[in-house]
Amino acid sequence: MLFAGCGFQPKSEQAGSFFSSPLCHECSACSEEEPVPDHTFIVEDPASLETLAQIPDMGPDDARHAVERAHLALVPWARRAPRERADILMRTYELMLEQSETLAELITRENGKSLTDAAAEVRYAAEFFRWYAEEAVRPEGSYGTAPGGTSRTIVTHRPVGVAALVTPWNFPAAMVTRKVAPALAAGCSAVLKPAAETPLTALAIADLLSDAGAPDDLLTVVTTSDPGPVVDAWLGDERVRKLSFTGSTRVGRLLLRSAADRVVNCSMELGGNAPVIVAADADLDRAVAGTMVAKFRNGGQACTAANRILVHEDIVERFTEKLSEQVCRLEVGAAHSGADIGPMISKRERDRLNKLIASAVADGARVTCQAQLPDLLGHFVAPTVLVDVDPGAALLQEELFGPVAPIVVWRNEEEVVELANATEHGLAAYVFAGDLAYSIRLAEQLEAGMVGINRGVVSDPSAPFGGVKQSGLGREGARDGIRAFQETQYLSVDWPQ
Ligand code: NAD
Repeated sequence: MLFAGCGFQPKSEQAGSFFSSPLCHECSACSEEEPVPDHTFIVEDPASLETLAQIPDMGPDDARHAVERAHLALVPWARRAPRERADILMRTYELMLEQSETLAELITRENGKSLTDAAAEVRYAAEFFRWYAEEAVRPEGSYGTAPGGTSRTIVTHRPVGVAALVTPWNFPAAMVTRKVAPALAAGCSAVLKPAAETPLTALAIADLLSDAGAPDDLLTVVTTSDPGPVVDAWLGDERVRKLSFTGSTRVGRLLLRSAADRVVNCSMELGGNAPVIVAADADLDRAVAGTMVAKFRNGGQACTAANRILVHEDIVERFTEKLSEQVCRLEVGAAHSGADIGPMISKRERDRLNKLIASAVADGARVTCQAQLPDLLGHFVAPTVLVDVDPGAALLQEELFGPVAPIVVWRNEEEVVELANATEHGLAAYVFAGDLAYSIRLAEQLEAGMVGINRGVVSDPSAPFGGVKQSGLGREGARDGIRAFQETQYLSVDWPQ
């Protein structure tokens, strides 16, 4: 259910039932008769620091109970006709679009991103339901004669089983649907643990899925402020056959270690450190516009966000000037009041980023522009452009995850490829160049799972999203996304001739 006049109120069967929020004080669904769970945690608006909601703080017992439910739901769901599964996913897509304004408002409230970014996220997130509704009815497989001629080989793909899904706060809708839609399309049931900062959007999406006709228990959302014990309970449970994780490389490594004990099938979408390469012959306006999107979409809090802007020496001055002009004009503030750039998700994140900027400046970097900060309590960082950054600066090694654009100069192809690949990450990269053949030659030398050429966005539900090196394992979206929730089985068949 999504509720006019009050933002959001989750259904009682999801995440326990207690939900108190200034957003929903007018809502009759906020029942005073609901029992208050013993443990709750607060979800706050990162722009105003107001409390948005108080929701159940679940633990390992709740996590196991959720698996119990998912396990019971698994076989009936896997046996449903693919067309029936597809219809429910398609209906969820339609409901997400019908509720897009409310969902965008909710994302903005709990995440802080601009309403424009939130609305774009809802459309992108909904597309995963549409794409996987279409994929659900296109089974792959093969039938053939073995080379020796003595048997037939039949290859099929079956649902992997109960899937545990763990998602981050930076795309509270899209990271959920990018997992839930293919999992359900493949015939799996799932348990979902959204980030503690942004659980409300996940709960809202689970409700829409239920409204679309998904059986009870097919997807259970487990909200918690202490993720370790919940995810450990899942990884230790025989019935959980899949972990699909999106988050930092640090936590991804921890979970891969835990998953090793039961050899759980893992998909990992981890951190990035994307280079933007601007060649001497690039269309300057296009390169600046693309860099603005790659860097400042989502306030820079995207795994695909530009982290290092590598600009050819011939155009670096003009590029810096134009980029700085645009960055200075960015309006920073509470996203629901129309600002371009919202707050960082937490005080810790804001302090981390400010420290990186200060340390780069102490080592000789120059600030060419910094946007105005609002007079608000939230965790804001001023969008900043830096030049003369020391190549060894921590700012270039770490995932910035915020609105800071460090510019580095390059002179030749060999140098720029080396600079671009000098990171443990390999998620996205961007190339802006006039000569397409040159762009592709550069792209083929980049250690990145995705390369945007003359554009600042790479995400598309129909394309395989994911990284190389320590940016992850596997792909989401496209056909690959559904295969991540399937096991291949082959039947070797013989019969009397
Ligand atoms: P995070 O790793 O801190 O948290 C991600 C999820 O893991 C959350 O649900 C969190 O509660 C949970 N978690 C945290 N510690 C855990 C533990 N010890 N055991 C089990 N679960 C735990 O990441 P974040 O700060 O929420 O998100 C930002 C990171 O996510 C960035 O590094 C970003 O690049 C990455 N990200 C990657 C992609 C991608 O597709 N590759 C997409 C979005 C975000």
